[in-house]
Amino acid sequence: MAIEKVFWADGIAAEAKARSSQNCICTGITPSGEIHIGNMREVLSGEAVYRALGENARFIFLGDSYDALRRVYPFLDPARYAAYVGKPLSDIPCPCGRHESYAAHFLEPFVESLRVLGVNAEILLAHELYAKGLYTAAIFTALEKQSEIAAILHDVTGKEIRPEWSPVHPKCAKCGKITDARVLSYNCADASIDYACACGHTGSANAAQGGAKLTWRVDWPARWKILNVTVEPFGKDHASRGGSYDTGKRIASEIFDYEAPLPLVYEWISLKGQGDMSSSKGNVISVADMARAVPPDVLRYMIFRAQPKKALVFDPGLPLLNLIDELDDPESKICDARAAECALLAGMHRVGIPYKHLVNIAQIAGESDEEALRIIARGGYAIQDAQAIRERLQYARTWLERYAPEDLKFSGQERLPEEARLLSPAAKSALLYLANKFTDDMDANALHGLFYEAQAECNIPAQEIFEAFYLAMIGKKRGPRAGWFIQIMGVAPVRARLLEAATAT
Ligand SMILES: [Zn+2]
Ligand SMILES: [Zn+2]
Repeated sequence: MAIEKVFWADGIAAEAKARSSQNCICTGITPSGEIHIGNMREVLSGEAVYRALGENARFIFLGDSYDALRRVYPFLDPARYAAYVGKPLSDIPCPCGRHESYAAHFLEPFVESLRVLGVNAEILLAHELYAKGLYTAAIFTALEKQSEIAAILHDVTGKEIRPEWSPVHPKCAKCGKITDARVLSYNCADASIDYACACGHTGSANAAQGGAKLTWRVDWPARWKILNVTVEPFGKDHASRGGSYDTGKRIASEIFDYEAPLPLVYEWISLKGQGDMSSSKGNVISVADMARAVPPDVLRYMIFRAQPKKALVFDPGLPLLNLIDELDDPESKICDARAAECALLAGMHRVGIPYKHLVNIAQIAGESDEEALRIIARGGYAIQDAQAIRERLQYARTWLERYAPEDLKFSGQERLPEEARLLSPAAKSALLYLANKFTDDMDANALHGLFYEAQAECNIPAQEIFEAFYLAMIGKKRGPRAGWFIQIMGVAPVRARLLEAATAT
């Protein structure tokens, strides 16, 4: 008996619905560096569940803009940024000068990528939530229950918690850091926290106006309650034993009286041949770049079709191309139909033409869409949606330029390449044989079969005939599948070129 494969996001959605009738998925990223394809797993995992939940769900993307700059990353100017370490990202100037803050500098292009990927999450910014006072109650609960929280942290992580440890970091009014001030006393009634900062300043912060921030391990469970989060995707780093989900789960229930959301743990995305993508390693591909080379639906599908706990190796070359064809063909056995259904955006039309074919056509037709459409029609494909095909051709051209493996690239030669003149007499006789056998009504398979007929007739290995053929056509020893290639080039020009090669001296 066949086992029905369940789309993983449907499984989580069913579990979430069993727990609550009103679900909220919350994803978040700290905008400390470029947000790239690797980070997309966070939001797209949430998006998959959001789609699977259907109506009555809320989907939030929370930018952790109130986190402190932890260190001077390699992509920052050390002379300029050393002084900002410890300050909230929302208070630090942006590296390029065109954004409101450091946080906005990295969040803005990411939010734009969300739009490109068809993710309609509500965008919230942590520094604004703090400034509006949404965290105030949680901050004072945490201060009241400081020792209980410390006990949970010790219990779960096994680490010694220093007596001066506090779940709350006041922001120093003098140096602007949110990492260096110690809580001296607090008053819930007026939301004030008196502090002494390492810089020497003592003062009073207003926690209802963003004057203090919860430490990460407490901030997270507080946020679950504040936003009513019921499903939370997070990377495997938070999921380790004694990690922030383990402590968050207990802090949520024991301190904030809230049941922790369903965890959705995902693995990293690595870049083929270059390890895990990370902006500090510089091996990242931005979503915007990728979305110019393939339809965004394909990037969604790439994430949706894989179990979240499975590590993904992102290869923008051929494997990505294969994925497009998988998504394009709902009948394909390898296509995960339900994942595809959730991944497809309203704008993507299935065109029913293998993408590799389009890539070859784009190389023959160059920039001309009309020539490409003529070649497609000649190949026997019904053109149902010319506009959709034009869009695909544009993706194919970008992909060719930026990500195509060298052996897939070719350009038609206007003249007979010099190497073709030096072919052996046997090879030339095989090309002559082919030129005389090709007819306009042959399909790609029949054309391809003639190469093997020539092998027998001319007593030369097929391999050598193929090489001679490609040399004559594109000046390389390899190329796209020959029968197919002839069909898209058109029999007449191929015949003329082979005759020329066969008689060249
Ligand atoms: Zn900027
Ligand atoms: Zn200070």
